[in-house]
Amino acid sequence: MKTINPLLLSILISLLSSISWATSAHIHENFLQCLSHQVPNSNSFSKVIYTPHNSSYASILQSFIRNLRFTTPVTPKPLVIITPLQEAHIQAAIYCAKEHGMNFRVRSGGHDYEGLSYVSYEVPFVIVDLVYFQSITIDVENSTAWVQAGATIGQLYYRIAEKSKTLGFSAGVCPTVGVGGHFSGGGYGMMSRKYGIAADNIIDARLIDVNGRIHDRKSMGEDLFWAIRGGGGASFGVILAWHIKLVPVPKIVTVFTVNRTLEQNATKLVHRWQYVADKVDDNLLLRLFLRRVNSSTEDGRRTIQASFVSLFLGGVDTLVQLMQESFPELGLVREDCIEMSWIDSILYFADLSGEPLDVLLNRNTSVADYYFKGKSDYATEPISEEGLNRIWKELIAAPIETFEFLFSPFGGRISEISATETPFPHRSGTLYNLHYALVWEEKGSSEFNRHITWIRRFYSFMAPFVSMSPRSAYLNYRDLDLGVNNKGNTSYGQASIWGLKYFGVNFERLAHVKTMVDPGNFFKNEQSIPIL
Ligand SMILES: Cc1cc2nc3c(=O)[nH]c(=O)nc-3n(C[C@H](O)[C@H](O)[C@H](O)COP(=O)(O)OP(=O)(O)OC[C@H]3O[C@@H](n4cnc5c(N)ncnc54)[C@H](O)[C@@H]3O)c2cc1C
Repeated sequence: MKTINPLLLSILISLLSSISWATSAHIHENFLQCLSHQVPNSNSFSKVIYTPHNSSYASILQSFIRNLRFTTPVTPKPLVIITPLQEAHIQAAIYCAKEHGMNFRVRSGGHDYEGLSYVSYEVPFVIVDLVYFQSITIDVENSTAWVQAGATIGQLYYRIAEKSKTLGFSAGVCPTVGVGGHFSGGGYGMMSRKYGIAADNIIDARLIDVNGRIHDRKSMGEDLFWAIRGGGGASFGVILAWHIKLVPVPKIVTVFTVNRTLEQNATKLVHRWQYVADKVDDNLLLRLFLRRVNSSTEDGRRTIQASFVSLFLGGVDTLVQLMQESFPELGLVREDCIEMSWIDSILYFADLSGEPLDVLLNRNTSVADYYFKGKSDYATEPISEEGLNRIWKELIAAPIETFEFLFSPFGGRISEISATETPFPHRSGTLYNLHYALVWEEKGSSEFNRHITWIRRFYSFMAPFVSMSPRSAYLNYRDLDLGVNNKGNTSYGQASIWGLKYFGVNFERLAHVKTMVDPGNFFKNEQSIPIL
């Protein structure tokens, strides 16, 4: 085989990169010119357009990145970031990105597990960051609210509680999650057994389509309105705002966290939990966290700790009675329980107890300080005690430090809704969701490989214990290991590899809606819905 002269190679590389730089610079200039034509005489618009030449470009880009995996020097960076102040700015961005062949990303809270709201592996690309679309209007009389897509769920919860002590909303636990991505991908939280997921409580939406037209539910039609409530917004347009139905909450709710290690009978309790958690009274949601800890009984020995973390929509007396009837094995006593308001329970589950309520307004703009990889599964059958013991053995021996396993129960309202009512198909027959979260701080590719290899192996190891055909996964816990689209267009068959896992029977309808509303496949990413 002929070897290439290193000097020639370096000349070639610099030539190619200067060509690609020149092409990018050309697109970049044309794109910026296009924006200024679309929104003429707008001083305010030019102030919210950031290119790598702006001193604040890096801080704007990083402000909502939650995961160090996507802040490396080789992570693709946007040619332009826009933080629109008005709908016309978003319309201009869509129009000009289409005209000039730019890929398009929209970011709300930036919590996407694979960074798809701010990283595109097809370049060049532009990010529209909805940080200035945060307005929230609460209508107590009708128990509804309009919330703009750039708001966080913490801001939403705060604004609801500001107006009413007896209204709440059913969505996730982490206050900095954005409603743009979270609601369009599902939105599971501590009231989901009582009221369903966030997407089940959306009654209208405003969205900009690929032609820059602004729609509400009526003008977008029921197919598109169906698709954006669980099918992910990014395949269909830019969601501007959601109209949501608020839900009643009692003035007093009760929370508890009970920890049990293997030495304290955790295996039997976890086993039993699988028969109880999806069937118990809908007012009770009993989540289960599993972590490896050092045993307190034997020096240095590792064990598994099961933490039963619960919200009950009612007072402590009823809860203790209910637990004695349905899950006496846990041995819950009054002293384990704390009564509080619903909004204080939001702080409790977010590990913010004791903080002032307005901490919920903090979007936490600090840069990411850890690496993270998440995966998910669904259980449709309980795992046997023998199976649990095998899992514990695997976790205890795992050559990684910080791993968390979370089981979130279904049943109640989530499971009453039919599997085709929204694109979120995990309904009747689903016992619980399994979430695998691996966090590390060590830099470098060998650490990256060590962690990613382990979590992939663990995911394979879990196969016999979870749903199969398809092996279901939760869109909001996005995982590119499940499969990715090609650059350009991807066939329905190829995309089905990951699409059926997230959407089951709904995947085909999603592809029909996509073909209808975005036939040119402008709104695309590594796991966007394909056109037919
Ligand atoms: C720390 C943490 C805690 C979490 N807790 C929960 C939880 O309790 N329950 C749960 O169900 N999930 C939870 N999640 C997952 C979370 O719901 C998803 O990651 C969700 O997609 C995040 O939405 P976002 O707007 O913050 O993210 P982004 O990264 O901004 O967006 C996610 C996706 O939605 C698209 N998108 C965002 N805004 C719009 C818009 N306006 N129009 C169209 N498309 C849009 C993006 O392009 C991207 O594809 C958590 C995630 C993290 C990191």
